[in-house]
Amino acid sequence: MSKFWSPIVSRLTPYTPGEQPKIARLVKLNTNESPYGPSPLALQAIAREVSDSLRLYPNPDAEPLKQAIARRHAADGVSVREVFVGNGSDEVLAHAFHALLQHGKPILFPDITYSFYPTYAGLYQVEYRAVPLAEDFTLRSEDYLGHGQAIGGIIFPNPNAPTGCLLGLADVERILQGNPERVVVVDEAYIDFGGQSAIPLVQRYPNLLVVQTLSKSRALAGMRVGFAVGHADLIDALERVKNSFNSYPLDRPAIAGATAAIEDEDYFRKTCNMVIASRTALAAQLAGLGFQVLPSAANFLFVRHPQHDAAQLAAALRADGIIVRHFKSERISQFLRITIGTDEDCGVLVEALRRHLGQQ
Ligand code: PMP
Repeated sequence: MSKFWSPIVSRLTPYTPGEQPKIARLVKLNTNESPYGPSPLALQAIAREVSDSLRLYPNPDAEPLKQAIARRHAADGVSVREVFVGNGSDEVLAHAFHALLQHGKPILFPDITYSFYPTYAGLYQVEYRAVPLAEDFTLRSEDYLGHGQAIGGIIFPNPNAPTGCLLGLADVERILQGNPERVVVVDEAYIDFGGQSAIPLVQRYPNLLVVQTLSKSRALAGMRVGFAVGHADLIDALERVKNSFNSYPLDRPAIAGATAAIEDEDYFRKTCNMVIASRTALAAQLAGLGFQVLPSAANFLFVRHPQHDAAQLAAALRADGIIVRHFKSERISQFLRITIGTDEDCGVLVEALRRHLGQQ
């Protein structure tokens, strides 16, 4: 009590909130980040760049990174002129919508897919048609054939997000062959966790743009680096749009870190294999708890429980300090998307679910 208090404050009996659980450690399984850090060589390269060169403008073409990407795919005939880099693959995709998919005709993408696509379509006023997935949530390549010049292009993630379902390379090629007059963008954000990249097809299909990210399998989500590989004419179009915004695609630490991460093939393979092994184990454990688990070629699982509401499960997990992704959109509102964490994180998740499902 104080002479400065107003009467109302003096009369108040403060509400005492319920005790908050002391979350020692958040288990974050909601945005498909890598549970492992970036390559130690990437961290060293970033530190070196920060201490030595931050007063200087970056290389305006991010040349060292483009060269590293071209070298990694040299066996598939990829040259530097066929590589584009940007601030995360989101930016690369945005430029693709603007530069390659905007033709006054609707573009096609799956009805359940990366939710940024309709946003970009809105931003760049690209009409679109959402093509229904099959009942089992797979993409049917035949749905993307026979449209001729009535469409403005095609984009889909492979594996798809948020389902994790993979389309085989033969089906990707079928879609390319069926649409020689239109650009087909294959968004391979999650391809490194067991899928087969379409980059080897780039030399044969001038209409193919493959987009990848360093946010997932290279654990550099916080750095924002993505890239595209495609025919030099497609890359040229992306460069024109990009240079109209900002002539420096990436900052110095990003160029240095991403280049080192691309070059550290051993660390990349080791950590991808760890994620794949954890995915197999977690899928089996969740199936054991009664979940339906869609086959996943990504660093996440898409699951539903026939007897339990997904929104309630997500809320119960959140109260435990475990965050998974729940989508409100109707057809997938009974699913949870769970990022593959460390085995320890996955263990914490499974135990919490066991409790919430009443199986203890
Ligand atoms: N494509 C898909 C399918 C994604 O899920 C994501 C991650 N949200 C991205 C692209 C963008 O990733 P980033 O911008 O971090 O490269």
